[in-house]
Amino acid sequence: MTRVDAALAAARARLTASPTARLDAELLLAATLERARTWLHAWPEAELDPGVAERYDQRIARRAAGEPIAYLLGEREFWSLAFMVSPDVLIPRPETEGLVRAALDHLRASAVTEPRVLDLGTGSGCIAVALAHERPDARVTAVEAAGPALDLARANAARHGVVNIEFQAGSWFGPLGPRRFDVIVSNPPYVRTGDPHLAAGDVRFEPVGALDGGADGLDALREIAAGAPHHLAPGGLVVVEHGMDQGEAVAALFAGEGLTAVETHLDEAGLPRFTSGKASR
Ligand code: GLN
Repeated sequence: MTRVDAALAAARARLTASPTARLDAELLLAATLERARTWLHAWPEAELDPGVAERYDQRIARRAAGEPIAYLLGEREFWSLAFMVSPDVLIPRPETEGLVRAALDHLRASAVTEPRVLDLGTGSGCIAVALAHERPDARVTAVEAAGPALDLARANAARHGVVNIEFQAGSWFGPLGPRRFDVIVSNPPYVRTGDPHLAAGDVRFEPVGALDGGADGLDALREIAAGAPHHLAPGGLVVVEHGMDQGEAVAALFAGEGLTAVETHLDEAGLPRFTSGKASR
């Protein structure tokens, strides 16, 4: 029989390639035992059942081969809510909370009641669910082209008891007809095809359709910029996430489509990460 402390030490030794080996080892053992992480520290001498030890071993092997911890756990926190994730969706990233904040700030400042909010390419649904959860009065529409991702987004909305999201299958503005919104948000694919980043770390396990934005990384951002003026209500805001070196290009796209008050905002690491623009009143 293996003790908890010995299992953790052995796992850490196998995870040398991970910058978070200790945390990974603990999170995966806690999940395998269906216990809180603190339990591991309270009971270091507890013995693992052979079945648990074997399941843990398999998870550690997958982590050692590079699989993202979020996919192994099936979960990632975003906006203080736990989202189910799978290899069908991008893993929610902390910087993307900046999109939620920007949308909420605009809704507060503009004081629209029952605002119409659109999330394009919702993936796990993290942005749409966070917004719908914060603003139960909002009517959120979430669009996603990939069927398995759309199913997961629906499940995440249900998990958080959010009922004010309407999900639509389709590509960008495709399924929306002439509808207009007070806020449009999107974290579209924006990495350049062939960027070495796509073959590194966690990213190589994530769906390429959620990451690859074409030769210059701007294919989806161009579509969003082009459609935004036709889908924003007067005074409405569009805000998108992009690569840290794409701020000027996205601002030019927005201005080129006639959006006003175009601004690029920094993420928490101080990198230009979001650009917003408004429809004139
Ligand atoms: N921020 C992600 C990355 O660096 C890219 C996300 C996206 O393309 N929307 O991998």
